[in-house]
Amino acid sequence: MKKIRLRSIKTKITVWYTMIIVVVFGVILGGMLAYSEYYGESKIRTELLDEVKDLREDILRYSEYLAKLDLVTYYDDGVMLSIYNEKLEKINGIVPEEFPRNMEFVNGETRKMKSEEESWFVNDTKVVMEDGTTFWIRGVHSYSTVMIMFERILMMLVIVIPILIAVTAWVGYRMIRQSLLPVHVITETAQEITSSSELSRRIPLPTQKDEFYELSYMFNEMIERLEENFLRERQFSSDAAHELRTPISVILSHCEYCLEEMEPSEKVADEIRIIQRKTQQMSEMVNDLLTISREERRVGELECEEVDLELIAETVLEELQEKADQRDIQMELRSALENPLIRADMSMITRLFINLVENAITYGKDGGFVKIFMDDMGDRVRLRFQDNGIGIPPEAQNKIWNRFYQVDRSRSQGKGVGLGLFLAQQIVAGHKGTIRVESEKGKGSTFVVELPRE
Ligand code: ADP
Repeated sequence: MKKIRLRSIKTKITVWYTMIIVVVFGVILGGMLAYSEYYGESKIRTELLDEVKDLREDILRYSEYLAKLDLVTYYDDGVMLSIYNEKLEKINGIVPEEFPRNMEFVNGETRKMKSEEESWFVNDTKVVMEDGTTFWIRGVHSYSTVMIMFERILMMLVIVIPILIAVTAWVGYRMIRQSLLPVHVITETAQEITSSSELSRRIPLPTQKDEFYELSYMFNEMIERLEENFLRERQFSSDAAHELRTPISVILSHCEYCLEEMEPSEKVADEIRIIQRKTQQMSEMVNDLLTISREERRVGELECEEVDLELIAETVLEELQEKADQRDIQMELRSALENPLIRADMSMITRLFINLVENAITYGKDGGFVKIFMDDMGDRVRLRFQDNGIGIPPEAQNKIWNRFYQVDRSRSQGKGVGLGLFLAQQIVAGHKGTIRVESEKGKGSTFVVELPRE
């Protein structure tokens, strides 16, 4: 059967929702980052301004205590404060160690400052006392707090999010796989039905009554209808063949009677012989049809026992020896089987061997060979029927299994009507095995049969 390369729905859905999760996470985190940056910065600015403002008010209010400015807290809420005189010499307070000493003073403006390792927000405020004395207040707030927060969020982004996405994708994949399991069962059953032609098989219905239940149910109904039609058609061809047997034998006996008893003229006798020949062919066809329907029914009810494949091969080769001799064909059995016994229906397997060996002789080469190989394949055995005859053109290779198909009627030498391989395939399928052909036109054919030991 042709294998189709599938793009799994499971993978497709998983990829889709994982992508959506990634985008959603990305947007949420991006938003969080932007917000935290903004929020962190504005908070620092407010704190800085508050502290500077407080100190300014203290200085104005308690100017007489200016000498005792040590009483002021110079570090509060992460803000470092320092006081400078008119000449911009530091009178008191603290400044971060790495903060550039020579940084110019700008009144009232909050600026961002950077050294190699640190960054700060700086606010300078000029205070003019009643007596005209001027002071400067410098407030510095380290910006690193925001950086730390930033880094933490980034760490989370790099470590937690991929893990979270991977876990979600994995869990999701398993859930999808679980819920799509019925599709797998449906496909497998359909495949089994196709390969074994067993229309009596049904898909087990899922326990939950969901869409897959409906699908399986409809599928089963369809197979049932097919089976009914198939059985009806089979019954019809069997009945028709039965009904045709009597008139055919009547025509034949009348032909015989005319030829032998009525002394017809040569011309009339010739005509009667044509009718007789064609009727004879028709009779063979009808017999084959009856055989087919009988054997088909038997394939459905195999009687399995221990059968010796080597023994069957030898018997069949012996039986067909005369036929092979007529065309000077050498026949040979090469078995590499450790144990030639398998469980199968003896008469069906014999028929399979007869059909394949007979074909190999009929379509073989005068003075050629027919070889049967037998090999172990674990719990299966492989049988190969090889000839070096006329071969089968590639375009006919998958049609030869059909009923009444013959590659070229003239080369069948009046043998058979194209039912042999159809039956062979039915027998193999009945035993849950496989059959295929490897052939090259003009070089020969090999029919490869694989049968399970049980
Ligand atoms: P038939 O009664 O014509 O032999 P089969 O079903 O046995 O019918 O085979 C179908 C066709 O496949 C045959 O008509 C023949 O053309 C081809 N065929 C079968 N076996 C061989 C073979 N070993 N070598 C070449 N052609 C073959």
